Amino acid sequence: MRTAFRCRAYPTPEQAAVLSRTFGCVRLVWNKTLAERQARYRTGGGATAYRETDAALTGWKKTDELGFLGEVSSVPLQQVLRHQHVAFNNFFAGRARRPRFKSRRGRQSAHYTRSAFRMRDGKLWLAKTSAPLELVWSWPAVDLNTVNPTTVIVSREPDGRWYVTLAADVAEPASAPETCREVGIDLGITTFATTSAGQEIANPRYLERRARRLARYQRYMSRCRPGSRNREKARKKVAAAHRKVRNARRDFLHRVSTNLVRDHDLAAIEDLAVKNMVRNRSLARAISDVAWREFRAMLEYKSARAGRTLAVVDRWYPSSKTCSSCGHVLAQLALSTRSWTCQICRARHDRDVNAAKNILAAGRAVTRSPISSEACGADVRRRGRPSSRSAVKRETRIVRCGASSTARC
Ligand SMILES: [Zn+2]
Repeated sequence: MRTAFRCRAYPTPEQAAVLSRTFGCVRLVWNKTLAERQARYRTGGGATAYRETDAALTGWKKTDELGFLGEVSSVPLQQVLRHQHVAFNNFFAGRARRPRFKSRRGRQSAHYTRSAFRMRDGKLWLAKTSAPLELVWSWPAVDLNTVNPTTVIVSREPDGRWYVTLAADVAEPASAPETCREVGIDLGITTFATTSAGQEIANPRYLERRARRLARYQRYMSRCRPGSRNREKARKKVAAAHRKVRNARRDFLHRVSTNLVRDHDLAAIEDLAVKNMVRNRSLARAISDVAWREFRAMLEYKSARAGRTLAVVDRWYPSSKTCSSCGHVLAQLALSTRSWTCQICRARHDRDVNAAKNILAAGRAVTRSPISSEACGADVRRRGRPSSRSAVKRETRIVRCGASSTARC
């Protein structure tokens, strides 16, 4: 299993200088390649192959004005070309946004593959530096000496903190013990999540408080004159506030997702397709957008690690409007209606709990029924090619975990 360990790093002033120069070159290569790609595309030259960008980089290193590119490790520069190539493939396949230019004010990073770093006795040596990079190891259960990374990513956040991410292959963890429990999860804005068992997980108050503080700092920064010392001070405060919001949110999401995965064999959630949702300027909505995306990613990898199943239900499935007792579908249900009574079976429903129950039922249908599991298997083999979709497949998408591939039906 591939995993990543991200830890704080404390480079010496000399190492920081080398790394900062590397970041600058990485950014330059990304931006210059991107500009040339776009210019070529605009003039009808078509797509650019990775090989061509690599040849261009070699050419730049030989010129006088870009000769300094040869002074830093060549590996991060080649890696950034690969990343841009992948980014464009994802963009053309409709999976991602168009790659954008990188700013020197954003997060900076450099990717080192095996030929550009050495790991010995738990010490990390990067190319073009003369001493091992000091890092803080925070996994007492994992011996750093046994970690054999295939890639090392060095990064500097906008608030000035340095991090090292070690991507490594580790032994497959044992599956978590069976619980014989299943859960459907309905995500919301006022309540973060409601489960099919009726449990409400509230949005933590501190999250909104921190987000408000961040918004205040951002307003203050925008009023400072560009280039002034006050603006620089404000920028640091904004970056630190961003970090605090992010950390508080992650901490909350980690706790919720860990508990859900640990206590249930199957979890079903709705695919909210965040990017397609109507944009809303409210703060609560903005917080939810990011949180839902991260929450789903956490559920995915934690389910895979514990050998659990995560079912992702299509977002067009009318989970709120369907009666979970008899299956009757309401013609209309206003957003303000928090509870309702089914006209057919007279069952009384809490809006969110009912939705969670329906999400669980939809998730169950696809993971259990032999026909759809077969369809699932077929879909794994046919992945990437458009295929006719059955009614079941249209309703429910499942991420089958435990297997090596992610199936989308
Ligand atoms: Zn009913």
